Amino acid sequence: MISADVIVIGGGISGAATALGLVKSGAGKVLVFDEQLPAQRPSRGNFGLTWFMCKGANNPSYARWCRMAIDQWPDFAAELEQETGYDLELEWTGGAIQAFDDEQYQAHAKSIEILKNICAEVDLDYPVQMFSREGFADMIPDIELGRDVTGVMYTDRQGHVNPLKLLAAVRCALQQKGGEYFAAHTVSRIVPEKEGAIRVETTKGNFRCGRLVVAAGHGIPKLLAPLGAKVPIYPQRGQLMVSERYDRVLDIPFLCTRQTPDGTFVIGLSTEDTGLDDSVTMAAMKSQAANAIRLFPILKNLNWVRSWGAIRIMTPDGAPIYTKLTDYPNITVLALHSAVSLAPLNISEIAPWILEQQESSMINHFRNERFNV
Ligand SMILES: Cc1cc2nc3c(=O)[nH]c(=O)nc-3n(C[C@H](O)[C@H](O)[C@H](O)COP(=O)(O)OP(=O)(O)OC[C@H]3O[C@@H](n4cnc5c(N)ncnc54)[C@H](O)[C@@H]3O)c2cc1C
Repeated sequence: MISADVIVIGGGISGAATALGLVKSGAGKVLVFDEQLPAQRPSRGNFGLTWFMCKGANNPSYARWCRMAIDQWPDFAAELEQETGYDLELEWTGGAIQAFDDEQYQAHAKSIEILKNICAEVDLDYPVQMFSREGFADMIPDIELGRDVTGVMYTDRQGHVNPLKLLAAVRCALQQKGGEYFAAHTVSRIVPEKEGAIRVETTKGNFRCGRLVVAAGHGIPKLLAPLGAKVPIYPQRGQLMVSERYDRVLDIPFLCTRQTPDGTFVIGLSTEDTGLDDSVTMAAMKSQAANAIRLFPILKNLNWVRSWGAIRIMTPDGAPIYTKLTDYPNITVLALHSAVSLAPLNISEIAPWILEQQESSMINHFRNERFNV
């Protein structure tokens, strides 16, 4: 049986970035096993925002965690690009959310006030502000805002990235540094053995490790059930659609619409409770297209060439679950939404915490036990 120091189950952005962090932190031999089911690939099907705005309104620890991640993003991307030669297409041009009427404008302004206060509790600023329609129009002179837009919530401290290139670069860096990535290796069983060893049974044979990281997205509950552990995640579908290429007219990403450096527009902000069904529907596409056209009327002239659904990994309070199992402290579970935005922390914080190289009082806020009330 092949042995490793650490096995990571799941080669999405959480598992791959954590594995890279483990290798960089000197964990020894690190293996990643990744199943390949279409319904379990949010790391390939996401919107690509690297974003903190509006996150943590009910949770100062999460607000701070998101800011930490976003502050690390430019250096994280530069290092990955330098190590792998990939261009992640990161644009650090901020992020925006429109208001379509005065009521929405006031609600956005109020949410900024609330988050400023929440962040102040943990000595953090919240660099987000409202712009009038005219003020924001000056920032995007090449594209016209729809007439319903009354104003825009904006921060200049975040951006967007090509999520496919991000995932490829992280996996590439992992393997360059000696980590091993096994595609199409489904883990069927986790078996704790004597003296802390863990046997990991896969469709292609059995392996043994001293530490295990379970970053298997929606595959987590099935893997943990035989160990008596429950992680309360639930699926939420989002549908995205992509246009033909167009002149580059918008470099600030909006929450519902962004233009990529190659000129395509990506739109999507739907949320549906459809289990693990990742299909697309005409109703959701019509509705989000209408919303995007209301924001930027020029979009009505474009052909839409591709669409897909992807399943978010949601937790009851929206914040990540980072937890070591009580009965098996050498098994760590990572389950979260916004794993693209939070990716730098897998390397700087999560990996050293898994290896017990550094305590992190921040990570304790995200233990699974917070849901045992
Ligand atoms: C529509 C949509 C838009 C989003 N937009 C954004 C965004 O703009 N910004 C942002 O930060 N986040 C965004 N997200 C969230 C982000 O995509 C997810 O948080 C992230 O992809 C989760 O990554 P993960 O690695 O934890 O899980 P996954 O990507 O699900 O990876 C888990 C991997 O584990 C594998 N696996 C499962 N079971 C097993 C098993 N038994 N054995 C081996 N392998 C297994 C799966 O096949 C999969 O490859 C979005 C998500 C959706 C759905």
